[in-house]
Amino acid sequence: MFDVLIIGGGNAALCAALMAREQGASVLLLESAPREWRGGNSQHTRNLRCMHDAPQDVLIETYPEEEYWQDLLKVTGGLTDEKLARLTIRASATCRDWMRSHGVHFQAPISGTLHVARTNAFFMGGGKALVNAYYRSAEKLGISIRYNAAVDALDIDNDGRFLAARIGTERIEARSCVLASGGFESNREWLREAWGQINGEWVADNFLIRGTRFNMGVLLKFMRDAGADMIGDPSQSHCVAIDARAPLYDGGICTRIDCVSLGVMLNKNAQRFYDEGEDFWPKRYAIWGRLVALQPGQIGYSVIDSKAIGRFMPPVFPGTKANTLHELGLLLGLDPVAFVHTIEEYNAACRVGTFDHGILDDCHTEGLTPAKTHWAQPIDQAPFYAYALRPGITFTYLGLKVDERATVHFDGKPSANLFVAGEMMAGNVLGKGYTAGVGMAIGTAFGRIAGTEAANAAGFSRQKKNNQEKVRNGDA
Ligand SMILES: Cc1cc2nc3c(=O)[nH]c(=O)nc-3n(C[C@H](O)[C@H](O)[C@H](O)COP(=O)(O)OP(=O)(O)OC[C@H]3O[C@@H](n4cnc5c(N)ncnc54)[C@H](O)[C@@H]3O)c2cc1C
Repeated sequence: MFDVLIIGGGNAALCAALMAREQGASVLLLESAPREWRGGNSQHTRNLRCMHDAPQDVLIETYPEEEYWQDLLKVTGGLTDEKLARLTIRASATCRDWMRSHGVHFQAPISGTLHVARTNAFFMGGGKALVNAYYRSAEKLGISIRYNAAVDALDIDNDGRFLAARIGTERIEARSCVLASGGFESNREWLREAWGQINGEWVADNFLIRGTRFNMGVLLKFMRDAGADMIGDPSQSHCVAIDARAPLYDGGICTRIDCVSLGVMLNKNAQRFYDEGEDFWPKRYAIWGRLVALQPGQIGYSVIDSKAIGRFMPPVFPGTKANTLHELGLLLGLDPVAFVHTIEEYNAACRVGTFDHGILDDCHTEGLTPAKTHWAQPIDQAPFYAYALRPGITFTYLGLKVDERATVHFDGKPSANLFVAGEMMAGNVLGKGYTAGVGMAIGTAFGRIAGTEAANAAGFSRQKKNNQEKVRNGDA
């Protein structure tokens, strides 16, 4: 029997597995994906949001705890647990050396419209390299890994104590367990149920899944039905407006369209529906999927003019291009008269000050609903461009309620040996909204805690390990 069982194969699972193994526990990791698709959504990531009080290796200036917390408070609208959020923030300041010790490399920050040089540390080679590094380290440390191992149920006793995991008829026992098998973003039926219908259409039928197809929420549902304490609203998620031409799964980061704040966003009826300049794009990109999801046909059109070119990360595929607004409206399949009217109305409302995409500038609209509060410049310089956008679901926020020890609870009572990390509990910190790099910050902090606690629950504490080492070294 293994000491610690880890269910999942992404960042949170790997952090937990490595920490448990470092404590001296024997560890088995079960990943539902085949080896070539291992790593869940984590393989698609690029960065980690990090608190720091002085310039550090790949991070410029400072990003103090209070500012990080205020950013989180703002995007979640207060739907966050301050204690757990601050724990995540503080942990983000100190985890990079540990990550490096397991082979993760960081790169110099990118600059430009993403405004993240100060706040986010970027993984060299992206999340794929990070996940591969962790798997290599896990193998080297003797962690057992099984692929194509989708757990479908757990055996839990009446006190909430983990006994075993089940894969079909196979029963896998362990002294303790960490659940890190992601959200339910790949489960279309559950998404349908969560989002419901608008005008007779299932909203979720038009969603694209940005990441893995393996996060079906099987254990989330199992735990909910087993009476575990839950947190979050099933319809809340990280949902980005992405290129409507993206594949159904695993389109990843390159399907993002980052020019929304430089232009206007229209729906199928050629109407604007939200302030495109509300805040910096990294703090707002994750609300646009939901906004588009609530529009007719779940589609939106980001429209820019030539002034915007070069100010945002170029998308993989070129946008629709036209020399007149009328022609652009036609090419998009929209009513060209309504399209031109909306843009002209917006153009007339623009009060252009000193345009600066690097700050919350003073270019705004007046007398227009909805207003554009920053970076409002007329769309008047041909050629004009547009991108059709669909909701791209990244990860869901419904999760298991935890405490600072990452413990699963039943009726407010902590389990003695069942822990949870990553997307499966991110809703404790993210009730809604998002700010770039927080997903990996939560997964890394709670993955490491869950692994340590699971090793403890199996009888392996750092103290005990230190004592064993002393014994081995003849110091005790
Ligand atoms: C395109 C994209 C870009 C992103 N970029 C960033 C970024 O730059 N920074 C950031 O902070 N966050 C980013 N995120 C969010 C980030 O990916 C998640 O917050 C984070 O990876 C969650 O880690 P996790 O380990 O909980 O989940 P995952 O990495 O998704 O891992 C879940 C694992 O569980 C496995 N699994 C599922 N069900 C079972 C089962 N029943 N049995 C066994 N295994 C199972 C899956 O195969 C998978 O390996 C991005 C997400 C996407 C999709």
